[in-house]
Amino acid sequence: MRRKLVVGNWKMNGTRASNAALIAGLKDAGPWSCDVAVCAPFPYIVETALALTGHHGAAEVAYGAQDCSAHASGAYTGEVSAEMLADLGCRYAIVGHSERRTHHREADALVADKARAALAHGVTPIVCVGETLAERDAGQTEAVVKRQLAAVIHGLAHCVGEIVLAYEPVWAIGTGRTATPEQAQAVHALLRKQLAAATHKADAIRILYGGSVKPDNAAELFAQPDIDGGLIGGAALKAADFSAICRAAG
Ligand code: PEP
Repeated sequence: MRRKLVVGNWKMNGTRASNAALIAGLKDAGPWSCDVAVCAPFPYIVETALALTGHHGAAEVAYGAQDCSAHASGAYTGEVSAEMLADLGCRYAIVGHSERRTHHREADALVADKARAALAHGVTPIVCVGETLAERDAGQTEAVVKRQLAAVIHGLAHCVGEIVLAYEPVWAIGTGRTATPEQAQAVHALLRKQLAAATHKADAIRILYGGSVKPDNAAELFAQPDIDGGLIGGAALKAADFSAICRAAG
């Protein structure tokens, strides 16, 4: 039985003050019976960690980053290594988010390298895959997500059993347009089948759905047999909405 996981991706949002208010709201709203994590912008990770794990903190909320470098250390200006994230106690690092694939031209092989770097330091990569609207309309959904996952399977070999996978159709991210539970389940099932061909741990790998998950559609999505929780963008910025989504994950 896979325990559900709900992860908030704050993206490039927030201030010290608004983060403090959001975390206070989460502390009031929890605990939940699923695993919960928030991925803060790099500069706010330490303060987020202190707020979540301090004396009066909600230790059940883990925290992580939204990216990590594929490199170990050295002359890579502006990059943040997996070792640094581990040093800060990050449990997760999102890698291969479609916004990074699009705006920073991250290719499948680089995403795999980032996932490997994270795992090497005990940080669980949340590997994102997903097709654009044009690719879905052209009937290429299966080919695209399989190609993206294949690169990670190739790069990680037997360690692929340690990842969290997130299916995030690009056309559903931040658009208010959600995949139907059936559309999402169909892709999750084929991703799990692909994982099963690569690792005996496929049944234990959590595959999250992301793309305009809201309190009113979360329960239906999470009820699907291969949907093991959510990666939440916009709705993660409001404690009440994020908490309601966590509750829907049961
Ligand atoms: C995301 O950024 O990963 C995401 C799913 O965003 P949203 O929930 O806003 O669609």
